[in-house]
Amino acid sequence: MGSLNIENVKKAFGPVEVLKGINLEVTDGEFVVFVGPSGCGKSTLLRVIAGLEDSTSGRVVIDGADVSATPPAKRGIAMVFQTYALYPHLTVKNNMGLGLKQAGTPAAEIDRRIGIASSMLSLEPYLQRRPAELSGGQRQRVAIGRAVVREPKLFLFDEPLSNLDAALRVNTRLEIAQLHRRLKATMIYVTHDQVEAMTLADKIVVLNAGQIEQIGGPMELYNSPANEFVAGFIGSPK
Ligand code: ADP
Ligand code: MG
Repeated sequence: MGSLNIENVKKAFGPVEVLKGINLEVTDGEFVVFVGPSGCGKSTLLRVIAGLEDSTSGRVVIDGADVSATPPAKRGIAMVFQTYALYPHLTVKNNMGLGLKQAGTPAAEIDRRIGIASSMLSLEPYLQRRPAELSGGQRQRVAIGRAVVREPKLFLFDEPLSNLDAALRVNTRLEIAQLHRRLKATMIYVTHDQVEAMTLADKIVVLNAGQIEQIGGPMELYNSPANEFVAGFIGSPK
């Protein structure tokens, strides 16, 4: 399970409306990519979905239930950030398990899930290391592993590859695609990189200044961009 409905979500910071009425349906198991220029509201929309930010109006519905008043930890969502957000003093293993431990998950179950996630992400050799002893790509895999062990209905990725160099970006992108195939989980992925969007997405949502310009499959947007903006962003050259 992991369907998502965003219904007329608006978000203002003071007088500035950053999300101007977003409507979106995401079906269970779909890989949806949000693209758009810096400042258009991509991160804000993810944070509203995750519950890290309250919307000004509108509803967020997960598996048919309105979660607008549900705290982040109870939404069945795990988020992966550009900056990894790992605890420097904890080992890889403890970084991955901390959330489960705090939620009262038995130690044996935590170990079982870390075993599976670390195998999927090739992290077994690093479980006893600390983040400072890892490369950027390895750190981001730990952050992804920490999301995986929570067995969320919905993964949210906010520009997870932006801090990685080109070769690692391709590598990590392929790992995320593989993870999606194996887990069959719903994933929402924010990027400003057209290649990432085109290669990962079942469905691309093009955002501009707090509004959706177009929603469609990669080839649909490429071949039939709705307007100049979408064409400039991912459309085929005219
Ligand atoms: P994106 O992720 O697409 O680059 P953001 O969602 O981070 O865009 O930001 C959208 C707009 O909202 C930007 O103009 C940003 O400055 C503003 N914004 C984001 N968070 C806050 C906040 N906590 N307070 C005030 N303005 C914010
Ligand atoms: Mg952002």
